[in-house]
Amino acid sequence: MDFEHLPHPAPVPGETRQQAIADPGFGKLFTDHMVVVDYDADEGGWHKATLGPREPIALDPAASVLHYAQEIFEGMKAYKQDDGALALFRPEQNARRFNASARRMAMPELPEDVFLDAIRQLVTKDREWVPTVDGGALYLRPFMFATEAFLGVRPARQYTFVVIASPVGAYFKGGAKPVKIWVSRNYTRAAPGGTGAAKTGGNYAASLVPQAEGIENGCDQVVFLDAVDKKWIEELGGMNLFFVMDDGSVVTPPLTGTILPGITRDSLVTLLRDEGLTVREEPYSIDQWRADATTGKLLETMACGTAAVVTPVGTVLGPDGEFTIGSGGTGQMTTKIREKLLGIQNGSVEDRHGWVQAI
Ligand SMILES: *Cc1c(COP(=O)(O)O)cnc(C)c1O
Repeated sequence: MDFEHLPHPAPVPGETRQQAIADPGFGKLFTDHMVVVDYDADEGGWHKATLGPREPIALDPAASVLHYAQEIFEGMKAYKQDDGALALFRPEQNARRFNASARRMAMPELPEDVFLDAIRQLVTKDREWVPTVDGGALYLRPFMFATEAFLGVRPARQYTFVVIASPVGAYFKGGAKPVKIWVSRNYTRAAPGGTGAAKTGGNYAASLVPQAEGIENGCDQVVFLDAVDKKWIEELGGMNLFFVMDDGSVVTPPLTGTILPGITRDSLVTLLRDEGLTVREEPYSIDQWRADATTGKLLETMACGTAAVVTPVGTVLGPDGEFTIGSGGTGQMTTKIREKLLGIQNGSVEDRHGWVQAI
């Protein structure tokens, strides 16, 4: 598919851009351009791909995304390598997961090469926007939504795929500082047969009230338990979890359909095995978590995702009160794995698994 390049009448001046990306924060600053590709089931599917100025999108008030939430997204980063080149991390995994989400939400799949081409073209166009601050990257947000003006309930026949880019620094202020986790008792994130494994906006909408409850209780993030037994640890609102034991084993909850299959999660399973650890994908309960933290069998807990990379969990506030993981600080394995992953992404550590792709 050919992307038509539309001229930008007024890109941000270089000096203003430099100032902005020196302290980008997370998700509030955006580049000059965006990619848009339209889909119409009655016009042969995907057509009309453009790379043009970033601008508001006109939608019919009856567009079905506004009523029935047919929407999916991805989150990935372009990294500046130590030699100045730009690279993506396992982008084909994002393309594949995007289509898995599309299938679950009854949306059309986007050919993987169109997804990847869109990402590469946008990053190349806005390459001057990649921050050089430590831990900085260009966060990429591909998303798709239903645009058909129709209030009946059925899959829409028209969609738009968009990619925008946001220069970012560290996700949590303070970098890899340990976070405090709230165990949600009143709310669940995903049920068997639901949409927990799809990266769709509705899952996030449903997580906002429990997240607010966590913040009211002095926590940074929420951990969700399974919806059936209300005891198995699933994941945070946007990050997967790993539990590091004192016998050289690591436990992470299995992908049973209620957990989002993180690409960082998958990468950590490999990196932890490279370190000689035994990784077990098996259910782990909130009671076991507390017991293992108390006896010292559990050394560390880490949360992981593209946005925050690898973040230590320091304290947990559960139904039976608070407990601390290890010393409450950042554990050795968390530090090691975080540095290894960041090193692979910025080119300073050997990429043994062929994960990094130059742009
Ligand atoms: C995106 C996401 C993750 C992390 O996935 P990565 O591919 O590692 O960024 C974890 N949980 C949820 C709910 C997510 O939406």
